[in-house]
Amino acid sequence: MSTNRTFTMLKPDALESGQAGNIIQMILDAGFSIKAMKYTRLSEDQAKKFYEVHAERPFYGELVEYMTSGPIIAAILEKENAVADFRTLIGATNPADAAEGTIRKKYAESLAKNAVHGSDSDDNAKIEGEFHFSAAEIF
Ligand code: ADP
Ligand code: MG
Repeated sequence: MSTNRTFTMLKPDALESGQAGNIIQMILDAGFSIKAMKYTRLSEDQAKKFYEVHAERPFYGELVEYMTSGPIIAAILEKENAVADFRTLIGATNPADAAEGTIRKKYAESLAKNAVHGSDSDDNAKIEGEFHFSAAEIF
């Protein structure tokens, strides 16, 4: 059953380029509501753990380095069909392949620095949300 929730991070490049406000506005305009949000910076251990599924991939080291390079904004979002609809809103992993009007098409710098994270399943949305937020921080 769908939980109607997903988890996102605005990645260091999005904050560095000053686009966080515009990206959050796009998310709200698409019908998502914010159930948890924080401005933080991942430690190396946190980034390694968060992206553990990619540990064997050649870009893992680069990914961890990038995700710890500056602050992020983490959030839990709610909307009907949240996981799939949010993936549609952010667009393809590589901004060169992302559809017009998507967040990555508008704001991502490159395949590595692609502005936003979006969970890929309801199970991962729950795991990732709980990785970043305690029960008292989720509304
Ligand atoms: P998505 O974020 O779209 O779910 P993945 O889960 O496949 O994409 O990858 C996680 C993140 O790792 C991507 O968002 C991107 O920042 C980075 N990444 C993925 N593939 C590459 C690659 N080939 N080279 C560098 N970084 C990559
Ligand atoms: Mg992914």
